[in-house]
Amino acid sequence: MYVSQGLALVTGASRGIGRACALALAREGFELLVNFRVQEEKAREVVRAIESAGGKARALGFDVRDGAATDRALLPLIEERPLAALVVNAGIAKDNLLAATTSEDWASVVGTSLDGFFHTTRLAVRGMLRERRGRIVTIASVSGLAGVPGQTSYSAAKAGLIGATRSLAQEVAKRGVLVNCVAPGFVETDMTASLPRDEILKRIPLGRMARPEEIAEVVAFLCSERASYITGAVIPVTGGVL
Ligand code: NAP
Repeated sequence: MYVSQGLALVTGASRGIGRACALALAREGFELLVNFRVQEEKAREVVRAIESAGGKARALGFDVRDGAATDRALLPLIEERPLAALVVNAGIAKDNLLAATTSEDWASVVGTSLDGFFHTTRLAVRGMLRERRGRIVTIASVSGLAGVPGQTSYSAAKAGLIGATRSLAQEVAKRGVLVNCVAPGFVETDMTASLPRDEILKRIPLGRMARPEEIAEVVAFLCSERASYITGAVIPVTGGVL
């Protein structure tokens, strides 16, 4: 019998890691809000995949960098029925040496990760605190832990996300809200499609890139009842990349 685990939002769920997270959370019994920014048809395809497996989902378009748009899309849905889980996944990279990075590129990379975290989490956490339950998982990167040349903006965004995750975890733990971070290494998605594959494979001890589902598995575990004593953690899922 289908027992709902509550409502879950995955930002940037039309493609890649976010899509895999939405599908994995639906298998855990969550009802999904599948966020996208521009690729509505891909988000609808994710919704159809969830529904045809017996789950519940709806596509929800908004730009996480835009606080007012996030409020407009999300508030009416979660005011009465708080989110049980939020996956802060939407993120972009614009790799360049710092000296050649434009202000626009810096703002869009840092803004998508950090403003996206702020705009979605501040809404989600209020209801979670009221309900005294909830799971928040942020998707950072090994780049935010170790630093990668050519990714200063991305590393700053992801290191900021890790700091925000750890602080929020301490703010809300007493009310039963658990907040963790997953830090993937290199994952087969559109984001990595144009990177020099042979060079990357040399850096990965397991000798291959991750499938999005291998990241989503950890995210789904962190959102499940099975992960009842983990909060403030940053979990690398990197195939051994340090
Ligand atoms: P991706 O395939 O490029 O997909 C990005 C997703 O984010 C899409 O669904 C996109 O929506 C959405 N998005 C982008 N900007 C948005 C915005 N302003 N508002 C709402 N949604 C937005 O990326 P990915 O590789 O799956 O990466 C997902 C997350 O994992 C990112 O945070 C990334 O930094 C992180 N990560 C990725 C890797 C990797 O190797 N791929 C490694 C470590 C960490 P549309 O389809 O509508 O454009």
